[in-house]
Amino acid sequence: MDLRNGFDIKRYIRTIPDYPKPGIMFRDITTLLADLHGFRATIDELVWPFLRGDIDYVAGIEARGFILGGAVAASLGRGFIPIRKKGKLPSRTIGQEYALEYGVDTIEIHADAIKQDDRILLIDDLIATGGTAGAAIDLIRKSGGEVVAAAFVIDLPELGGAAKLRSKNVKVHTLVSFEGH
Ligand code: AMP
Repeated sequence: MDLRNGFDIKRYIRTIPDYPKPGIMFRDITTLLADLHGFRATIDELVWPFLRGDIDYVAGIEARGFILGGAVAASLGRGFIPIRKKGKLPSRTIGQEYALEYGVDTIEIHADAIKQDDRILLIDDLIATGGTAGAAIDLIRKSGGEVVAAAFVIDLPELGGAAKLRSKNVKVHTLVSFEGH
């Protein structure tokens, strides 16, 4: 039976027009996380497809992916692996560059965080172009891990990120979507 509780997650997401620059509609989840029912419903919805799954670790992308990914990992009874911006992790790392609108950025993971064939669930708050999550998938695969699925609260389908991840053979689970950017 489907025990999902039908909480209206989308209503609790605040939109800030023209942040951080003109033309961007920033989808702010702090209002969702601050609501006691909202946070719990969000974690339940992210987790339910994976309750029976064979996941070894949950990996979250800095920074909002840490808040969600940590709660998802605890809910699934699994460990959490942080994927961080360059230069933040203290031990030996491996990195992956990805393209931004202007220039490049790098994300890193501890070199010993993932063992060969570990099964990973990737978490972030939002998928837009899929540049960030795509780099995280490449990084997990470089580490020897298998990306079982990637889950996000928000999809911006017009930007094509979810389709991009599916073309990399990753299952994508999203909770709500918004038109446009
Ligand atoms: P992308 O790499 O294009 O898929 O962008 C995804 C990353 O950028 C995520 O970590 C999001 O938190 C952030 N992001 C991109 N677009 C938005 C938006 N409209 N509102 C909030 N966060 C965004």
